[in-house]
Amino acid sequence: MGGRALGDQTEDRGTDQDGRHVLVAGGAGFIGSHLVDALLARGARVVALDSFLTGRRDNLAHLAREPRFELVEADVTGPLPVLPRFDRIFNLACAASPPHYQADPMHTMMTSVVGTHHLLERARADGARFLQASTSEVYGDPEVHPQTESYWGNVNPTGPRACYDEGKRSAETLVFDFERVHRLDVRVARIFNTYGPRMRADDGRVVSNVVCQALAGEPITVYGNGEQTRSFCYAADLVDGLMRLMDRETSPGGPVNLGNPREMTVAELVDLVTRMTGTRSAVVRRPLPVDDPQRRRPDITRARDLLGWAPQVPLEQGLEATIAWFAKEIRPPEPAAVP
Ligand code: NAD
Ligand code: UDP
Repeated sequence: MGGRALGDQTEDRGTDQDGRHVLVAGGAGFIGSHLVDALLARGARVVALDSFLTGRRDNLAHLAREPRFELVEADVTGPLPVLPRFDRIFNLACAASPPHYQADPMHTMMTSVVGTHHLLERARADGARFLQASTSEVYGDPEVHPQTESYWGNVNPTGPRACYDEGKRSAETLVFDFERVHRLDVRVARIFNTYGPRMRADDGRVVSNVVCQALAGEPITVYGNGEQTRSFCYAADLVDGLMRLMDRETSPGGPVNLGNPREMTVAELVDLVTRMTGTRSAVVRRPLPVDDPQRRRPDITRARDLLGWAPQVPLEQGLEATIAWFAKEIRPPEPAAVP
């Protein structure tokens, strides 16, 4: 998504040429790297801090010669490296895909709790505005549909997803305690399923799995009966929402859902990708993972009212860009012609 990317609305609403200094923790990840690009495009100076647990240097390789950009390797659960003062801190550091965040559940929990605490202390010391990337997983397997921010959620605190769900819930608690106790200027985005270029082929989430399997002609894995629903937001739309939330002059007072309200079943997503790729891959059923939410769809009334934000990129268009990206990513380059 270099330059003016699909769904990028940043240029339409004014640019930020004041050279603000911004920290993006988790900046080498899928969403983080797109956010770094968008911030640089409007004139900010950006430090991406990342442990490369799931993020990749490749996602930021195009910025190697960018003087306003720096990449720092560090794990947010440990002491933060010495860095200059920041005006704004985005915390996106945390593996987001179930197989990755369950691989070391204690570290996932500590990333959200200890890591967020470290970054909040840093924001407090700097007088920086702080944005936490939270998640629709705080709603668990929701009994309220669509999910509004006022819903407290239905999370299993002891299951295999809890390290992520409860970690993110605890992070929200810390963020709002820093607002109450220290008057820190905070924002919390509850991000719903997001997809797009730069997801890893081995990410394990449904969009990357289905697209890669379809392109490779391998069986497409549907967990359970495929009737569970999700609502998929294109990365550029999500990044635009994150920046609007950070830019808002006054704190919105509580979390804000960011996601695409178009809801579909996993089976419908598989049908769409099958048609778009023309694959002959068959569908294979796999067991539904423990505590897999049955339904998920954001109510984005608050984001519309407070930020004037709504997703712009239709699923078909976003999938087209994602399929094109994975086609390059997973296919080996053509052998060079013999002269
Ligand atoms: P990602 O795994 O691509 O990015 C996470 C980044 O954080 C990676 O670069 C990883 O290396 C880094 N990281 C993980 N633990 C770290 C640690 N302890 N210290 C330093 N860096 C660490 O995932 P993503 O999809 O880009 O998600 C970004 C953020 O958005 C995450 O916080 C995630 O919880 C949140 N989110 C994403 C989605 C989604 O659908 N993509 C949905 C809800 C919330
Ligand atoms: N899923 C699937 N096949 C896959 C990967 C995921 O059917 O290869 C299902 C998964 O069980 C869930 C939905 O797709 O119901 C979304 O899964 P994902 O891991 O993308 O996100 P999350 O469950 O965190 O919303």
